[in-house]
Amino acid sequence: MDIVYMDNNATTKVDPVVLDAMMPYFTEFYGNASSMHSFGGAVGREIAAARDKVAALINAEPGEIIFTSCGTESDSTAIYAAIRSNPNKKHIITSRVEHPAVKNLYEYLAKTGYRVTWVPVDKDGVLDMDFFRRHLSDDTALVSIMWANNESGVIFPIAEIADALKDKGIVFHSDAVQAVGKVPVDVKAVGLDMLSLSGHKLHGPKGVGALYVRKGAKFSPFMIGGHQERGRRGGTENVASIVGLGRASELVKGHLEEMNTRVRALRDRLEEGLLKNTPNALLNGAKDLRLPNTTNISFEYVEGEAILLMMDQFGICASSGSACTSGSLEPSHVLRAMGVPFTAAHGSIRFSLSTYNTEKEVDFVVEKLPPIIERLRHMSPFWKGAGCQLQ
Ligand SMILES: *Cc1c(COP(=O)(O)O)cnc(C)c1O
Repeated sequence: MDIVYMDNNATTKVDPVVLDAMMPYFTEFYGNASSMHSFGGAVGREIAAARDKVAALINAEPGEIIFTSCGTESDSTAIYAAIRSNPNKKHIITSRVEHPAVKNLYEYLAKTGYRVTWVPVDKDGVLDMDFFRRHLSDDTALVSIMWANNESGVIFPIAEIADALKDKGIVFHSDAVQAVGKVPVDVKAVGLDMLSLSGHKLHGPKGVGALYVRKGAKFSPFMIGGHQERGRRGGTENVASIVGLGRASELVKGHLEEMNTRVRALRDRLEEGLLKNTPNALLNGAKDLRLPNTTNISFEYVEGEAILLMMDQFGICASSGSACTSGSLEPSHVLRAMGVPFTAAHGSIRFSLSTYNTEKEVDFVVEKLPPIIERLRHMSPFWKGAGCQLQ
């Protein structure tokens, strides 16, 4: 059975050209980039070339890119660097819908003496900028707000946030793991201090990420060790993965236009088809302010996990917004922050497309899913209790 993969916000396929670029660094070119011999030196030059490519993707200087092991490490590095370089300030700001990589670290910092402001979003997942502005203070050390949300796909006003922070001595970090490769990201145009990205979210390998640190921004390392990454991140470089991230960066830069035309049209076709063919289906997230590949739809009165299991029988891969990982029935913190009602949050499904998806796949999902929802609703006590009629 063919897989219909629409879970690209969770992880992506390594593009075959990326894998080809990586292979020689597992086999032939195993030298250590720090070695004095030219065998190792050649590897160092490949790392430099990869750094150029990652920098080009976000309009940074190569010297502003630090390779890390993942998006999570980039986030942790940025957040710790910010609070360490402002030891006297004890207030930090973030949004209520961050990825756990930021959310859980902020919760930890809240327990260790930091005052945290969680900026809310409205029912469309749009950030409350007035609330944000009102809560800035002289004690604020750091603002960490994601570029685009992984569940709803909603894009945040990063340039506006950067403007509000100008000349205030507040570090601005953005988790752009979902944005990079899907929408144009230009660090110079926006003017932020730090930005995280991750290899496996943009058709590169798992286990590699990057952190942009603006030239002149205060920084202290998270991984303290050798002199790699100019002392900003110790540890022998993950050469193959770094080369892979470089090649993937080049690739997605070339695919940005396709992402915002063909893939956007596929996403819209999927969304419109599902909303039209399924009663009591609601879109989560501002329609026009989203990543081009993401749609998050609530099918009222059914369980997201049941939908996923039944779609799985057709090889369709997507994600649900109820917390499957923790084994609890809690809807995700993102949907709760958006105020999605209980009966809808439980049946929310996120489809996230990529340049590999086809119209045929979209039409397959639009054909298969509505009958699945109908079947599940016949079994659902909520559906009957709500007194709804199947149409
Ligand atoms: C996936 C993701 C991360 C974590 O990246 P890893 O490389 O898996 O650690 C962080 N933030 C967002 C928004 C993500 O989607």
